[in-house]
Amino acid sequence: MAIQQTLSIIKPDATRRNLTGQINAKLEEAGLKIIAQKRLLITKELAKEFYAVHAERSFYDDLCTNMTLGPIVVQVLEGEDAIQTNREIMGATNPSNAFPGTIRYEFGESIDFNSVHGSDSPANAVQEIAFFFSKIELCR
Ligand code: ATP
Ligand code: MG
Repeated sequence: MAIQQTLSIIKPDATRRNLTGQINAKLEEAGLKIIAQKRLLITKELAKEFYAVHAERSFYDDLCTNMTLGPIVVQVLEGEDAIQTNREIMGATNPSNAFPGTIRYEFGESIDFNSVHGSDSPANAVQEIAFFFSKIELCR
């Protein structure tokens, strides 16, 4: 395994419930280092661009709206096998299928309000990190 970087987003449902610190603690306990982080309010247009890969899905419009309902925290995580490690600590997309101990099991409200996003492949991680961060914002 190699050291990787991945993009993580703490979604509006979680920032609204003041869960940023508790989610960050889980990421750090899983061995991931938060090497960049910022809190943003994004427009629906930006959410649509970010989630363009899902444009044909029935949930696309709701997903993009939901990302604008409050602040998001975008972050770059670094660590051994970071993409998969983050997916594991996030838990299943639908919180009712997530394992105990995962972020979505503990904090997710529903599939629409599942508290976090994480890149799902090395290529997407590179693209998603570049979407929100410039190189000089990553502090290792
Ligand atoms: P994410 O991309 O947010 O890390 P994921 O990779 O587990 O989550 P995707 O299939 O990429 O899931 O879907 C992106 C987001 O769209 C999910 O996090 C969820 O909020 C929403 N979503 C996915 N599938 C559904 C669905 N069947 N119905 C409603 N919303 C969905
Ligand atoms: Mg995904």
